[in-house]
Formats: sequence, C-alpha cells, structure tokens
Amino acid sequence: MIKRTVFAALFAALCVAGVSTTASAQKLYWTAAGQFGPFNIQGLIPTYPEAKDIFIPINMWILDHPMGLVVYDTGNNVAVADGGCTSHWTEGLCSFLIPGMTRAEVIDKQLEKLGYSTDQVKIVITSHSHLDHIGNIEMFPNAIHVIQKIELYQAWWPETFQRGGAHVMADYDGARDFNFLTLDGDYDLFGDGTVLILSTPGHTLGHQSVKLKLPETGTVILSQDAIWMAENLEGPGYVAGLNYSILDYWDSVHRLTMMRDIENAPLWYGHGIAQYEKMGEQWYK
Ligand SMILES: [Zn+2]
Repeated sequence: MIKRTVFAALFAALCVAGVSTTASAQKLYWTAAGQFGPFNIQGLIPTYPEAKDIFIPINMWILDHPMGLVVYDTGNNVAVADGGCTSHWTEGLCSFLIPGMTRAEVIDKQLEKLGYSTDQVKIVITSHSHLDHIGNIEMFPNAIHVIQKIELYQAWWPETFQRGGAHVMADYDGARDFNFLTLDGDYDLFGDGTVLILSTPGHTLGHQSVKLKLPETGTVILSQDAIWMAENLEGPGYVAGLNYSILDYWDSVHRLTMMRDIENAPLWYGHGIAQYEKMGEQWYK
C-alpha cells in the first residue's frame, strides 16, 4: 500500500514537471520589418489635434510554442527592402509611407537571426491583408495560414474605396492554393488557451488580433492595426483613418481596451514607436 502511494506520488510529480516544462518553453519575440516615416501623424490619424512628424515600426511577432513555431504577420514584401519600394508598391504610397527596411529586417532574415528557418514555421497568422502585414506570406508555402475568411475575400476583391494602394495583390496571388485555416470569429489556436485569435474588424473587414499567455510575462494583447498606437487612445480617442467601418473599429478598440483593463494585460500596438523603441527586439518569456 505504501509502495503504491509512493509510486502514485512520483507519477503525479512527473506529470506536473512535464506540464510545467512544456508551458515554460513558450516565448515571444517582438521584431519589426523596419519603419515608415517620417510623416505627419495627421496623415494617418486625421482627427489628431496637432501636426507632428512620426516614424512607425512595422511590428511582427515570432512565437516559439511547444506545439510549433508561429509567425504573426510577415511585414512588407522583400522587394521593398533596401530602397526597392517603387518596384513593388505605387509611387504615391512609397512617397507617403517612406519605408525604411533593410534586407536583414525582412521576416526570413529575422527568423534566421534567432536560429530558425522559414521551413520550420508551422503557422502564419495574418492580422489583415494590408501590404505591411501580409507582404511575405509566399515565403511560407508549407505553413498553415490562419486568417479570417472574410479578409481573404477582401484581399482578392477590396472595397472600391480601399483599392489602389494598401492591398497589393502581388503579395498573395501566388498563395491561392496554400493551406488556409479560414476563421469566422475567435479561435483558440492550440486548444489550450495560450494563443487566442480575436476577431477585431473595423480597420479591415476581417482584421484579427492575438491574445497570448506567457509563463513569466503573463497575458499580453497584440492589437496590430485594431489599435495603431497610443495616440489613438489619448483624450476622447482619435479615430484612425483608413477604416472599413468606424462602428466596427470602435467596437474592436473597446473590446481590446476593456480586455486590457479587466485582465490587467498590457496592450502592445501595431505601430507604436515609443513602445517598440522601449520593448522591441527582445524575447518575452
Ligand atoms: Zn492595416
């Protein structure tokens, strides 16, 4: 009887050790596909009360999870690197956004820098189909691509008022036969609550954000373009330009900010330069 109890205790201890080892392996790297700028913030946020020149980072995320390597957004297309903008984007967009991205800042090289290759990436989550977020999905032909179904429709046939720039068909016209996990709302990626995909439309028809549970850092919310930067939340809240729907935009902003407040979870924005300079280019465990 005593023996059986000891065995049971040992078995339980092993199980617990196994679980905690797995959970502690999950870590997140915050990087960027270079920056845009400088330009007047009012070009992005027309309601912002004063003119000021800003740079913005093009945030991307690499999650090393026990169930597989995940990339959240793939940044600007590699053709845009090292001054190649007009070979891939319209001249108007190049002169407005002023992309500064070196070849080393493209997602494949960012992965290499951390000791991974594009082939090792199991899952690519794409927040939305704008050129600075979906730009390099074709570097991941063997991954599972997680995106809202309605966003794929928008990518291939954007609303008329959103054409002529932010959706670059050449970024994904070779990806039509990829493995897409098309979603219609929220999704628990690994079925264990550690990576929750949150439907946050408004900026585009099918924009999605991600909420993560990290062993040491705790819960973090990666808004991407549901909330560009802290300035959008100042004062009464300054609405971003370029929205598919302002009503949906506000619902998504409120969803994320209330989640932040209720769960006491930091909100890491899609294009906030102050946050990136302080917290980017490092691991979060
Ligand atoms: Zn966008």
